[in-house]
Amino acid sequence: MKKRRVINEIIQLLYPDDIKCIVCGREIHPNRYGLCSECKLDINVNYCIRCGRHKVGMGDHCDECSQTPVYFDEARSAVNYDTVAKDVVHRLKYGGARYLVKPITQFMLDVLLLSDWSVDCVTFVPMHKKRERKRGYNQAKLIAFELCDHIDAPCYALLEKSAETVNQAKLDRTERLENLNGAFKATGDMPERILLVDDVMTTGATLNECARTLKKAGAKTVYALTFASVPERPLLDTPQTDIALFRR
Ligand SMILES: [Zn+2]
Ligand SMILES: [Zn+2]
Repeated sequence: MKKRRVINEIIQLLYPDDIKCIVCGREIHPNRYGLCSECKLDINVNYCIRCGRHKVGMGDHCDECSQTPVYFDEARSAVNYDTVAKDVVHRLKYGGARYLVKPITQFMLDVLLLSDWSVDCVTFVPMHKKRERKRGYNQAKLIAFELCDHIDAPCYALLEKSAETVNQAKLDRTERLENLNGAFKATGDMPERILLVDDVMTTGATLNECARTLKKAGAKTVYALTFASVPERPLLDTPQTDIALFRR
């Protein structure tokens, strides 16, 4: 095996395959993907290293994470919030389809297994008591408990939603932050390393405020895991129908 590696390295030196994009052939700065920036965008490996959402720009972070202070250490999602995921989440939230918690959690477990996160416990984004009573359950809580059936960590309710807030999707960045300011309260003893769970990440503002609250109460590390995340898209390329769906 060692011999083959040496031979491969010599071949690499003589015929480097990392100075032209492996797809379009244009000359590039050597990078470990072997792709130019445009081709890399096209196959969708362009995600924000902080929040994990698919992003548009070429920097390490999406717009949201580069313009707002981020309190969670890392966030990742299993899938993009597109047609299929929208349907699944909608049925879970508004159609009483609690059986969807199991398959959704399987997707999230895959992400967790690939991560290098180690956590002391799992918690979830809480709903206001009144809304939870009306729906009959909090889907994030169901997912968190299901997740804990598969990993070696307990599930604790560490947050309470103390104020009723308007739907985040209808607000701009500043309004979102104001809307959430002080909306959550930490309860109980705070473990050091926490995995925060929710169904969908839209801009990350809710997860961010939850992480801020947990850290203020003594948590050292907060990772966030969601089933789906809304990709960052250039505003002009976003079809109107999509916007309507996000704002439902
Ligand atoms: Zn290319
Ligand atoms: Zn981000």
